[in-house]
Amino acid sequence: MNWQLQFLGAAGTVTGSSFLLRANGRTLLIDCGLFQGGRQLKNLNWEPFPLLPAQIDAVLLTHAHIDHCGLLPRLVQQGYKGPIYATEATCALLDILLPDSAYLNEQDAAYANKKGYSQHRPALPLYTIDDAKKALQHLQSVRFDRPLSLDSFSVTWRPAGHLLGSAILEVRATAVNRSHRFVFSGDLGRYDGAIMKPPTTIKTADTLIIESTYGGRHHAEDDIAAVLTDVLQYIIEREGVLLIPAFAVGRTQQVLYHIRRLQDEGRIPDIPVFIDSPMAVSASHIYCRFGDDHNLDVNLLMDERVCPLHCQQTHFVRDVEASKQLNTRLGPAIILSASGMCTGGRIKHHLKWRLPNPRNVVLFVGYQAEGTQGRWLLNGAKRVRIHGEEVPVRARIASLHALSGHADHDELLRWLAGFVRPPQTTFIVHGEPKASRALQADVERHGWHTIIPLREQCFSSP
Ligand SMILES: [Zn+2]
Repeated sequence: MNWQLQFLGAAGTVTGSSFLLRANGRTLLIDCGLFQGGRQLKNLNWEPFPLLPAQIDAVLLTHAHIDHCGLLPRLVQQGYKGPIYATEATCALLDILLPDSAYLNEQDAAYANKKGYSQHRPALPLYTIDDAKKALQHLQSVRFDRPLSLDSFSVTWRPAGHLLGSAILEVRATAVNRSHRFVFSGDLGRYDGAIMKPPTTIKTADTLIIESTYGGRHHAEDDIAAVLTDVLQYIIEREGVLLIPAFAVGRTQQVLYHIRRLQDEGRIPDIPVFIDSPMAVSASHIYCRFGDDHNLDVNLLMDERVCPLHCQQTHFVRDVEASKQLNTRLGPAIILSASGMCTGGRIKHHLKWRLPNPRNVVLFVGYQAEGTQGRWLLNGAKRVRIHGEEVPVRARIASLHALSGHADHDELLRWLAGFVRPPQTTFIVHGEPKASRALQADVERHGWHTIIPLREQCFSSP
């Protein structure tokens, strides 16, 4: 049977996940992610799609992270008419994440115009909140482990353990007695996370597309409790602020869970925790709604005081004015705000305010892609540019890798070991080149045939 697979993104980089699969006269788009990072990457979001969006028959999503779905509003804006299939929890998360992504785009464009630092004049948003709402109307929810028939395709979403609702996609294409089985790993989670369950073992694939974010790297066996108590002690002694750039969905709940546990064990005092994100309230609510999809014992009827996703003094900050008031707030206090890689959002204002003061700590709890401000700070930048202004970095910069939502090198190999025989071809994607090559080296050692595709590269059935 004939098929064609084209890599539109997450090839040579970790963002912009998007793959075009053609077979039996039908075209599926797997993920439709936003490119994030430096200007060069961001510019890719403005490039035309390699085909008319109206020619795509269906979109299948692995999960709700913006680097996997953040270009959907643009796809719809450019003429996509079909359904967008995703798990129930992914649909619920997209309801808050896509309009937020649009809002950030609009804000950035407006701010750039006000300050006059954009390369375009006037700066335009990639898409608007209205575009995002239109995209949401195309969503159709699917259940985990229940095959969906789409003409000659059968698609099954399997839990990936990476984010609430996240899935590994099994796509079987059939044509006259012959079929070909594609497996898209999406982003794979960890085996021993506190909140998410481990990724589903997949046994067979003819063509495998696997992520390699952490290829060649191993998550430090950070003692989460030790790191958190250390930075908290630091800011308590100095009356500083612990600033945690964290994505409102997933990472924020993880951080809250661990702080709450330390409080319950009496290991840290109850200091105020500010969740400066209008989305985080909705996100925590969604975690309670989909209690079966993760390990925590939570539900919608639960009293906040016993909910493991709330700390003793948790304040959710929704409006902009309250957020600004946090700038002048004295420590000790904890502020969580997005975005997690410091690429935009309210965290920028907090960084501008807190970085110059050595009493404060900025704690990174997630992956920081190349070219992002988060990566520069982690690499020891002495000054950063925020909203066109030079900001000196005097705060202590710390990191905690154990909260990663991504499988590390050994965990990727552990997942691959679940296959009873090697796929005909394994495409290694969603990694910076060094990471993809590191995973490739280990996988090929086991005799597998692998390819690290380039962006826009197209492969056909032999
Ligand atoms: Zn992800």
